[in-house]
Amino acid sequence: MSRMRIALAGAVAAAVAATLAGCGSGTAVRAAGSGASGSASPSASATGKSTSGDNVPPGGTKPVNPLIEYTTGSRGRVVALTFDDGPSPVWTPRILALLAQYHAHATFCEIGPNAKAAPAMVKAIEAAGDRLCDHSVSHNEAMSKWSEQRQTYEIAGAKKMIEDAGGAGTQVDWFRAPGGDFSPLNRHISVQNGLRPLGWTVDSQDWMRPGVPKILSNIHKELVPGAIILMHDGGGDRSQTMAALQQLLPELVSKGYSFEFPVK
Ligand SMILES: [Zn+2]
Repeated sequence: MSRMRIALAGAVAAAVAATLAGCGSGTAVRAAGSGASGSASPSASATGKSTSGDNVPPGGTKPVNPLIEYTTGSRGRVVALTFDDGPSPVWTPRILALLAQYHAHATFCEIGPNAKAAPAMVKAIEAAGDRLCDHSVSHNEAMSKWSEQRQTYEIAGAKKMIEDAGGAGTQVDWFRAPGGDFSPLNRHISVQNGLRPLGWTVDSQDWMRPGVPKILSNIHKELVPGAIILMHDGGGDRSQTMAALQQLLPELVSKGYSFEFPVK
């Protein structure tokens, strides 16, 4: 992908990013346009299929799509659960146990030092068949303003911490910028490290601890098939997240939903 094409894709991403908010800001994030992967706009679609090889990660052969992913792979009644800011030795095992009870799976967007501090949690996530996402080293929600060198450290450094925590064979598939602070540059760094930028479409705002009914109503307001739901297993007391999940999971199952991972 040429620089110009990256810039073009970046302009689309910037428009999306303008509506992004996440851990910390409280506004729901929506894909521009349809919300389908790689179809945010005609230009995004055109720029999402580079064959130049620029996006091939070191040692890899498959190009990584630089567009922010906003949906699951399958059509129909599927959702992708994502949990950010962990892992937490307290909350991650409880969430894993609850997911297992409903045969549900999720993607965990981990802060590098948290993974380093709790390697057993990273291994438990892998053992459960769940997946890993890079959520930076220092979780700064304005990382896009930093130098290329610093952003590279935030992304590549966290990826290495997660991989080291998980041990041999650990696979990290996505990068989610803290607060959704994506930019053309950090998406480029992300794909260079083999990580697909990962957004969300349903913001539970559970990080604010607004009460279980509010978390659930936030989810219901935006829930559609193919949604990527943002919740948190890190960042402090997640008892409200747990209580909301205890209601949400059986409800989704009873409505015929199944659980998938985002597209890489
Ligand atoms: Zn976060």
